[in-house]
Amino acid sequence: VESTLALIKPDLLADPQQVKTVENEIQQRFKVSQRKQVFWKTEEAQNFYQEHQGKLFFNRLIGYMTSGPLIALALTGPHVISEWRLLMGQTRPPQMRVLKPETLRARFGLTDTRNSFHGSDSVASARRELAFFFGPDSYD
Ligand code: ATP
Ligand code: MG
Repeated sequence: VESTLALIKPDLLADPQQVKTVENEIQQRFKVSQRKQVFWKTEEAQNFYQEHQGKLFFNRLIGYMTSGPLIALALTGPHVISEWRLLMGQTRPPQMRVLKPETLRARFGLTDTRNSFHGSDSVASARRELAFFFGPDSYD
């Protein structure tokens, strides 16, 4: 079975009721094997998102991800990497509200940056990202 890293980003944590709703839906669909709330320092956000260093949205992304606490979840199950990405929807909430209104980003996301969720994009990313939050043994 696979594991993946799901993040509930700071915009959503501003509303505890929405967090509850989302976490309930996640628990109905997936096994949550780890959970942690963190408040990132700038350097931690830059490290996590190092692949995006130099992009136009990078500073906005780092500012957003350090604007408040976030929740990290390790989800485990068959095909969970792609299953979680399907539930989340693609990056841009306004586009998802047209194409896939049932997805979490369509329902909760605010803007292309403040899109409320993250999901690992591959087995290799999941391994790195789970280790980042939960330690090097967290992915098996
Ligand atoms: P992918 O599946 O391609 O990894 P993603 O949703 O994780 O999609 P990334 O391209 O990895 O998006 O970008 C990471 C984050 O940076 C996004 O989730 C979003 O918060 C922000 N972001 C990405 N692209 C833009 C953009 N064009 N404008 C503003 N913010 C963006
Ligand atoms: Mg990504």
